Amino acid sequence: MIIHKNKKSIYEKCKAAGICTRCKKRPAIQRPERISPLVNCEECAAVLKVGAKERAAARTNRLKAFGRCVQCGKHPAIEGYTRCQTCRKKGTDCARRTQPKRHENRKARGLCKLCGARPHIESMKHLKTPMCEPCFYKVCSQRALGNRQYWEALKTKLISQNFKCAYTGRHLIFGVNASVDHILPVARYPHLKSDPNNIQWVAKNINYMKNNFLSEEFLALVKEIAAYRL
Ligand SMILES: [Zn+2]
Ligand SMILES: [Zn+2]
Ligand SMILES: [Zn+2]
Repeated sequence: MIIHKNKKSIYEKCKAAGICTRCKKRPAIQRPERISPLVNCEECAAVLKVGAKERAAARTNRLKAFGRCVQCGKHPAIEGYTRCQTCRKKGTDCARRTQPKRHENRKARGLCKLCGARPHIESMKHLKTPMCEPCFYKVCSQRALGNRQYWEALKTKLISQNFKCAYTGRHLIFGVNASVDHILPVARYPHLKSDPNNIQWVAKNINYMKNNFLSEEFLALVKEIAAYRL
């Protein structure tokens, strides 16, 4: 137990001093934009990287088989979860603390605020949450269809419409006017809420105007207005 404690304090000392926690000689890699600093030097990081995924997966499987927490490995996991109460709480607390910072960090670096993996779409940079293309489609899919899984169908649809509004032919821009419309309105056809075949891309203001109308009703109304007023 004492050995364990010593080991830990050396680790912490190295971490605080910015020295590699493995070789304890060379300086750790510096990435100032990262929230949690890297703890290894280039050489050690390269060594540790070999087979790291496999080793981690093997450890997880081993702990799962024993019904132990996959994070700390000490406490039994809660029924139906993979971690213990303490680790779960630690996880949520940590996320609550670091997530806003991480998200702002991504935004400042021109990356998608949601995944941080790809640059965000240029036309979305003025928004609170600028996203990359896949994330944009995923959010649209979640909002319109109640599930992220249809994002590729939404993408295919927009491409097939040539990025044009189904009613006005206006060019649709991400984060500006592109919006998903249910062809048969959900208010009247609730069972078609999550049907990816029931959607079309329209300009945002057209979507508000169409409201709960069927296509024919909407077009008839537009004609009526035009005939009376123009
Ligand atoms: Zn090292
Ligand atoms: Zn735990
Ligand atoms: Zn993204």
